[in-house]
Amino acid sequence: MSISKYSTFAVIGGDKRQLYTAKSIADDGYCVTIGGFDSVSLNNSLKNEDAATAALNSSIIILPLPAVKNGNILNAPFSDEFIYFDDRLINAVAGKKIFCGMKNKLLSAVPALDKDLVYDYLEREELAVQNAVATAEGALEIAMRQYDGTVNHSRCLVCGYGRIGKVLSQMLKGLGADVTVSARKKSDLAWISLSGYRAIHTDDLKEYSGFDLIFNTIPSMIFDSVVLAHTAVDAIVIDLASLPGGVDFAAARRLGITAFQALSLPGKAAPKTAGEIIKNTIYNMLEEDNR
Ligand code: NAP
Repeated sequence: MSISKYSTFAVIGGDKRQLYTAKSIADDGYCVTIGGFDSVSLNNSLKNEDAATAALNSSIIILPLPAVKNGNILNAPFSDEFIYFDDRLINAVAGKKIFCGMKNKLLSAVPALDKDLVYDYLEREELAVQNAVATAEGALEIAMRQYDGTVNHSRCLVCGYGRIGKVLSQMLKGLGADVTVSARKKSDLAWISLSGYRAIHTDDLKEYSGFDLIFNTIPSMIFDSVVLAHTAVDAIVIDLASLPGGVDFAAARRLGITAFQALSLPGKAAPKTAGEIIKNTIYNMLEEDNR
């Protein structure tokens, strides 16, 4: 089933990414109203209203990731004032499909919402895979800014060979880096070797050293003080794993190792692409759902 041409969208709250989602939907010919963006200058094709009016005007509601912060306050960094998910907003979205990131957080903050009508685009594999590209580019941007040498010919370690690890290793190789990748599955180690990288088991990290740049994608405490002291001396460490992350930053400070926690990179490094990825994912979900 395709999306009805009569669908109307409210994009409420969020950062630049969400603005690009709104713009991209409007460019497809749909009527889009945004809410919670009073402090940005806007493209004229977007109607700008308060959050509840935007929701009332629309049949489909798009919220950011996360949708709420600090209880039932909408995550709306471009709003001049706090937007509470109060009864007026709850009534305005009632009976409508709501797309957001981290839906469980939204549902526990606003239990009055109909959980069957709340959809989580952050749980979608196609979004995670495409976001890996923006994340890897963001990581490279940090590496290029922070490292005094070129990435070309640098000795790079990528920990984890999931979505981000795969994309980042490929980009580093494309730039001419000497790439080592760690994984724990035998099949991943085989693919790593086959792809032309040096493969090492994640459990053996502390047996290796001499890296200029280390990128961690593993969402577990991998770079504790022991591994940092053996593997990361003289390296710049960039932790990409979601909180709580995979690097002991206090230990890194003690050891004099430069380490960065690099979070939410798609929205920072490539808000336009990140917004379009959200739009395409929501379109996929609407097409699959024929309620
Ligand atoms: P992924 O595809 O699930 O890959 C994770 C990798 O870590 C896999 O190789 C996995 O190995 C490995 N791993 C997980 N737990 C491990 C453990 N305890 N010991 C050893 N290896 C372990 O995830 P992803 O999409 O690449 O994302 C990686 C992290 O980045 C996540 O925390 C994600 O939320 C975060 N992220 C960050 C940003 C940002 O802007 N910084 C953006 C998007 C996502 P197995 O396959 O063997 O389990």
